[in-house]
Amino acid sequence: MTTETFEFQVEARQLLQLMIHSVYSNKDVFLRELVSNASDALDKLRLAALRDDAPDADVSDLHIELEVDKDARTLTVRDNGIGMSYDEVTQLIGTIANSGTAKFLQELREAKDAAGADGLIGQFGVGFYSGFMVADEVTLVTRHAGETEGTRWTSRGEGTYTLERLDEAPQGTAVTLHLKPADSENQLHDYTSAWKIKEIVKRYSDFITWPVRLLPEPGDDDGDGAEAREAETLNSMKALWARPRDEVSDDEYHELYKHIAHDWRDPLETIRLQAEGTFEYQALLFVPSHAPHDLFTQGYQRGVQLYVKRVFIMDDCEELLPSYLRFVKGVVDAQDLSLNVSREILQQDRHIRMIQRRLTKKVLSTVKDLRTSEPDRYATFWREFGAVLKEGLVTDSENRDAILAACAFPTTHDADEPTSLKDYVERMKDGQDDIYYMTGESRQAIENSPHMEAFRAKGVEVLLLTDAVDEVWVDAVGEYEGKTLRSVAKGEIDLSGTEEDKSDAEKEKQGEEYAGLLGWMTEHLGEDVKEVRLSSRLTVSPACVVSDAGELTPALENMYRAMGQ
Ligand code: ADP
Ligand code: MG
Repeated sequence: MTTETFEFQVEARQLLQLMIHSVYSNKDVFLRELVSNASDALDKLRLAALRDDAPDADVSDLHIELEVDKDARTLTVRDNGIGMSYDEVTQLIGTIANSGTAKFLQELREAKDAAGADGLIGQFGVGFYSGFMVADEVTLVTRHAGETEGTRWTSRGEGTYTLERLDEAPQGTAVTLHLKPADSENQLHDYTSAWKIKEIVKRYSDFITWPVRLLPEPGDDDGDGAEAREAETLNSMKALWARPRDEVSDDEYHELYKHIAHDWRDPLETIRLQAEGTFEYQALLFVPSHAPHDLFTQGYQRGVQLYVKRVFIMDDCEELLPSYLRFVKGVVDAQDLSLNVSREILQQDRHIRMIQRRLTKKVLSTVKDLRTSEPDRYATFWREFGAVLKEGLVTDSENRDAILAACAFPTTHDADEPTSLKDYVERMKDGQDDIYYMTGESRQAIENSPHMEAFRAKGVEVLLLTDAVDEVWVDAVGEYEGKTLRSVAKGEIDLSGTEEDKSDAEKEKQGEEYAGLLGWMTEHLGEDVKEVRLSSRLTVSPACVVSDAGELTPALENMYRAMGQ
């Protein structure tokens, strides 16, 4: 059949150039990416078979195979999983359809060091292309399980790739890397060496639940003249979540995280949970160290992986964690669910709800503990995920206190260290009844606001809230330990309890004195204001605009307006 040549999209070409010429600190990870893809493909096929979606597929010996040809300098990673149709190859491999790619490229250029660049690659799902770090040509032959026709894709990673339809091909996918000329200076990069391959698989892919086999080389018969030796299985295939804590190293957990999350960076925190008894399950959860770029978009795939009795059932099981913990990655392995469990069943299942409740509490308490035990790591957590977590203050009233305990709010008390509400309340002045906050676009904008003057003058602490969600949760939460959350920009503010203030008689006299002016201003500002009144909230500025206590603040008005409401 004919071979057609296509051009890479501009973005894909740029990405490949970066991949080929870059200075990645660790090229070994290309193999992890290819094995990870193969493992995903096997998971998908087994699942399809369980659901009777792949009647013609062969699922008798699902595995991953590595084959080296020293003379041709090739390394092949082969799986007999779900495979790809011709169209899928075009969509998944030929282009970078991902809308985040442009942003990715920009971040990649800005990344100061190789480690930073490493981290970005996996996050944007360009794992397959990493083959070009070590190969000057990559060939992929694939057949979707159950289909008859196969596809061959080839590229040298330059401007173009070719596609060809094949009458026949083995089920699954084989990726062959034509390795770059041997680097005689650096034995460490000899990917035709069995020793090297074993080391990489052991280090990065040991937990993969499918056998990763290394085929013996032709002629490599131990000198006893026997037929080719058996393929050797390189990984232990042990599910990390089922092994005792003290038998598993942090590195092993981190590699599992990278496989699951398609991230190249270590997670910030690992959380283990085992439930025994009537409903048994194990959970291994990870808090990433960076928020994904699409965390706030609609298409964001949230949720953790669901396994049933060690069998992968689905990615992104949304029912296992609430939306405000959508950044958490990991695995839940339940013993008593049916392998046939569907999304519809999951939504109704009371065991799943039980698991969700337990995982939620565990994640929240972990974050709370992090805050006291490791302030630096907590600061990273808060920077990356604080805005998402706060959504829970609005949507999850059951866990409100636990969420508040895991939150940190910027405050006038200390420019560098955000505070908990608990600490705020402890610092409250005698006679102060409310917790004061102000919302705005930035810390600086808030601090420059005339609303802050009286608070600064009297030394009353104010929380400085700058996320869009802040407008909403303060209303939803309303109070903390009996203290009302009060905006300094709304309604009448009474700070009189915190300091000696003008007597009522004085105020009345002032009122009479200015009545004429206030009346004149109210009239002239017309429709734009409801009322002009004297205020004790200002010390320097002559006037400021205030909303009524029940009204939307300007920022929230803007937010709703932007949403078209
Ligand atoms: P990611 O794994 O993060 O999605 P990759 O660049 O590694 O990104 O792979 C892109 C896509 O190509 C995968 O999501 C998958 O759909 C497809 N793919 C890659 N390798 C295989 C394979 N061995 N079998 C089937 N599909 C594959
Ligand atoms: Mg991948």
